[in-house]
Amino acid sequence: MRMTARPQNPHQATLLRLLRDEGSTSRAELGDVVHLSRSKLAVELEKLVALGLVETAGLAASRGGRRSGIVRLAPSLRFVAFDIGATSVDVAVTNGELEVLGHVGEECDVRQGATAVLERALELLGKLRQEGLIPGPVHGTGIGVPGPVSFREGMPVVPPIMPGWDRFPVREAIGQELGCPVLVDNDVNIMALGELHAGPARSVADFLLVKIGTGIGCGVVVDGAIYRGVSGSAGDIGHIRVDDEGPLCVCGNTGCLEAYFGGAALARDATEAARSGASPALAGLLGDRPSLTAQDVSIAAAGGDAASVRLIREGGRHVGQVLAGLVSFFNPGLVVIAGGVAGLGHTLLAEIRSVVYRRSLPLATGNLPIVLSELAGTAGVIGGARLISDHTFTPA
Ligand SMILES: [Zn+2]
Repeated sequence: MRMTARPQNPHQATLLRLLRDEGSTSRAELGDVVHLSRSKLAVELEKLVALGLVETAGLAASRGGRRSGIVRLAPSLRFVAFDIGATSVDVAVTNGELEVLGHVGEECDVRQGATAVLERALELLGKLRQEGLIPGPVHGTGIGVPGPVSFREGMPVVPPIMPGWDRFPVREAIGQELGCPVLVDNDVNIMALGELHAGPARSVADFLLVKIGTGIGCGVVVDGAIYRGVSGSAGDIGHIRVDDEGPLCVCGNTGCLEAYFGGAALARDATEAARSGASPALAGLLGDRPSLTAQDVSIAAAGGDAASVRLIREGGRHVGQVLAGLVSFFNPGLVVIAGGVAGLGHTLLAEIRSVVYRRSLPLATGNLPIVLSELAGTAGVIGGARLISDHTFTPA
């Protein structure tokens, strides 16, 4: 395998991360942040230039005295991200600053198994390569999958909705294929990293990212880093019990949050409302299809359908109920609601907010914004790139 350039010491790692997060920066400003003398800084930057990770680019405006040179990450740096969901696959290429240069996504059933889904992701990457977006080597690839992951081994472990993926060596397989370092994490975790890098959580060290997609999960960020727990299942909140008497869940228990709400539960309840005559609007949308989707509920609610609005409110209430407990326990600085079902928008958000603010302790919610993600479909891929860039920009 080709060796990808890595920083040789912590100073170089700090410089690379700073240039990633802040873009082009003058030598004077870099020196202020890393507390290096002008000559020591010059030595470290020269080494990074020699590694092909950094380049110098003209002179900054004078701060009085000699004008300081501008430094930036090498424009040829490339990271790749695969965001594999239960029903979709997204592939993106970013530059060193993690700006998305190209992004393709399509519907894809994760139940096809690891080989088929990863092959499809590689084909999509091939398309981006054909567009000339990857001029040289790929410096690293970050992959998110919709299930529990052994982060250390780079593979899914007993993932409930991913038949054929259990202990499949994703990191090794893709690393061999692309000849670069690869890291694999849970899809909710990479989404949280995306919010940390480019979303409203950019300036918040401790926050929760609640993803409401087909299922429901939570990314836990502590002091600017993902908290994964002992076995990688931290934040698996979809199976917290809301009610002993509740509906049967895919996990075999009853009354889990996910059995009440999320894309799958919403599709089930909306289809039922259409069939029972409770919602003529949903019945109209159903037509002769086998079932409705969360998006149909969104459309019907926007058109004023009372049954759809009620389904969203009830869902928001259940999410809020679990979130209120999490907020009291964790005392986050921000909660971001994301995922396909978050497209239900303001009705959902208002219900979640009202339950959390009513039920959590005032000290925990006094300054707590609960917001919708602003990154639309890109949080996962930006987070995948962020994950692997953190690794690449760490001393080897
Ligand atoms: Zn469950």
